[in-house]
Amino acid sequence: MTRIKFIYDTERFSNNHVAEVQAAHGRAQELSTNMRAQMEDIWDQRRGLGLWKRRRKAWKESSDFTRWLGDEKLTKRQIRLTRKRIFEIEKRLGKRVTYALKTNRGHCKGHWAWHAGGLQARRVRICPNFYGHSTDIQATVLIHEIVHGLGQLHLPFTTWHLIPANAHPRGADTRDKALALARHHPRDARRSPENYEHLSRAFA
Ligand SMILES: [Zn+2]
Repeated sequence: MTRIKFIYDTERFSNNHVAEVQAAHGRAQELSTNMRAQMEDIWDQRRGLGLWKRRRKAWKESSDFTRWLGDEKLTKRQIRLTRKRIFEIEKRLGKRVTYALKTNRGHCKGHWAWHAGGLQARRVRICPNFYGHSTDIQATVLIHEIVHGLGQLHLPFTTWHLIPANAHPRGADTRDKALALARHHPRDARRSPENYEHLSRAFA
């Protein structure tokens, strides 16, 4: 059962803020389930000789998977890892998640939400920019943050030319970067928060 916890200053935030995040969380769960179902369709092929060939073929036939996670370097390990991550996203959203509502300071400047990484794996910080957008977009932002919570970072070292460190403004810019990552660095795309954000958007 999902246990969502909110941490916020009641002088600055109202029940409306909480309700908006709660709705986005519910939608994120739906999108993560849809994404997982597509992964399962790719995975569940007839057993026996040629099983992995059939899985690769099914992956390549999914335009969403190909677009956002690439269709090169589809080793058994890569397919297994991606499947595990997609399952983890759904699982994590269905467990205990803490949302801390933040004011427009520090890491919140210019962002919708952020995640501190390992130590507080279940805590997502929500910034003022988050509110007032469509629930679908908000939901995919939460999925992005959940992927950070699974230990996946932006990839400033391997792909610095595509995704600058700590920079993830929303919109066309990240879309192009995620597309380029899938095309040119598919293994990196399969662990990139942005790529799961955009992939899940395809299931809205
Ligand atoms: Zn991020």
